[in-house]
Amino acid sequence: MKNTLLLCLLIIGGLGLQAQQSVPTDYFSNPLDIPLILSGSFGELRSNHFHSGLDIKTQQKEGLPIYAPADGYVSRIKVAHYGYGKALYIQHPNGYSTVYAHLQKYAGAIEQYVKENQYNKESFEVELFPDASRLTVNKGDIIGYTGNSGSSGGPHLHFEIRDGASRPMNPMLFGIDIPDSKKPLINSVMAYPISEEAHINRSQNPVKLRLMLQKDGSYKAEKITAHGKIGFGVSAYDQQDGASNKNGVYKITTHYNGTESFKVLFEKFSFDETRYLNRFIDYYYWMNNKSRVQKLFREANNPLSVITNENENGFITVEDGFSSNYTIEVTDFKGNVINITVPIEGSNSEILEPKTVAKTDDFIYANQATSISKGKFSVYIPANSLYEDTYLDIQAQGDTLLLHEDVIPIHKNITITVDASNYDPKDLDRLYVGRLNYRGDPYYNTTTRKGDKLSAYTRTFGSYVLVADTTAPSVKALNFDDGKWISKNETLRFKITDDLSGISSYRATVNGKFILLEYDYKKDVLTYDFDDGVITDSENNLKLIVIDNVGNSTTFEATFFRK
Ligand SMILES: [Zn+2]
Repeated sequence: MKNTLLLCLLIIGGLGLQAQQSVPTDYFSNPLDIPLILSGSFGELRSNHFHSGLDIKTQQKEGLPIYAPADGYVSRIKVAHYGYGKALYIQHPNGYSTVYAHLQKYAGAIEQYVKENQYNKESFEVELFPDASRLTVNKGDIIGYTGNSGSSGGPHLHFEIRDGASRPMNPMLFGIDIPDSKKPLINSVMAYPISEEAHINRSQNPVKLRLMLQKDGSYKAEKITAHGKIGFGVSAYDQQDGASNKNGVYKITTHYNGTESFKVLFEKFSFDETRYLNRFIDYYYWMNNKSRVQKLFREANNPLSVITNENENGFITVEDGFSSNYTIEVTDFKGNVINITVPIEGSNSEILEPKTVAKTDDFIYANQATSISKGKFSVYIPANSLYEDTYLDIQAQGDTLLLHEDVIPIHKNITITVDASNYDPKDLDRLYVGRLNYRGDPYYNTTTRKGDKLSAYTRTFGSYVLVADTTAPSVKALNFDDGKWISKNETLRFKITDDLSGISSYRATVNGKFILLEYDYKKDVLTYDFDDGVITDSENNLKLIVIDNVGNSTTFEATFFRK
């Protein structure tokens, strides 16, 4: 215990030192030459992660030039169908790096370098680490153009600044200035009974507090009665000037009877810890209400470094017969603040609503590995896949596995194995394990097969089903016809779709030579750009092969003419 305390003091001391170690505030200039308006802020709560940068709105357009915010060199380029899409990483001589994601394309020599590598590897998706001398940039150089590539829901630039250990930092600390005169907004405040005997308003279940807006703009919660060890949570967001986007807040601090109890600060985190967001938020509430409540306490299996101060892990113990005040202060980067006061009356009155626990046959100890068999399915849950011990409701119905409900987060992959020995051996290759989405469609889960056993990994509870996909992808040319002259075409475009398992790969050649296609999964479109200059003949025989996730393939052939 003493050692732990000492360690805590050392860590707190270390943080203090880091905070003093100032970051350069005039080194990086704005990466865009438009007013910076955000659709996402640093540390914002997202699905399974904290947002690692700023999402800068680009006026609903693509193709805005991005300027190097400082000297440096291109240290990494990644082109991917999903995630960051076309991403660019610049290393700066002061030890920091900057990241640009969802680009439409790269600029000049960078674009040329990427294309060369894509043709060498015969792949649209590439990851490249050029030498420091290969692609140097000077402050103000155009390095790329904004877009909407990868898993981006609308045109914007995702911009990050990372420290020497590749930890994303809040770009606003570096002087990237976002005008903000509005206070953060509060959605809801929750109170949680923690200890066995604890209760709030005579209930042992989480309680949503009723908030009353005060004349000074702050909130006061209706007085609660409580007993034992309890904690609180808040759902809050921030809006900056010039847009109504709901972005994340910068800092939350709580006090109990005047003493600081808990502090979350969104200045820096590491990618290894980002999935612990699911431990930090009230996951059950999020799945049921689509609003993320941050718990203002640290439970077991929550190593998050964004929690920068805590007394008793942020929990409070209410004493019977005493009145006390708990306050929550939510602050944005510009220091706009909103306060919430929760008056508490300590009272061990009779519990009217005992804790609701749905008991099942399958109680899982979080720190132990567990194997469970149901019907033709078996589920393997490695140790520490779950954050806490819990009952799971698991049932098999024929080819469907009801694997609890997506109201409990999973940290590490669990394995679902299904016995497919009742299938015809020739169909085994076309089977996969799908997760039923909200529409009831079996969304493909990477599936491997050993004999007549199929296995899939997942980090989401829900319904899984064994599905046979025997339909090959469909391929249609969008902007040309077989046998026609298309000298004026700047591109070749194809619509590619697949029922059930989805597109896995595609490859095209013209007169036997590989041509580079860009895949936009959001539009189901493949595009070839004639600027590549690899098509020089007048008669061209095109062959495009598209393969789905279980290996069904379609070959599309056409001839076109150009001069
Ligand atoms: Zn982003």
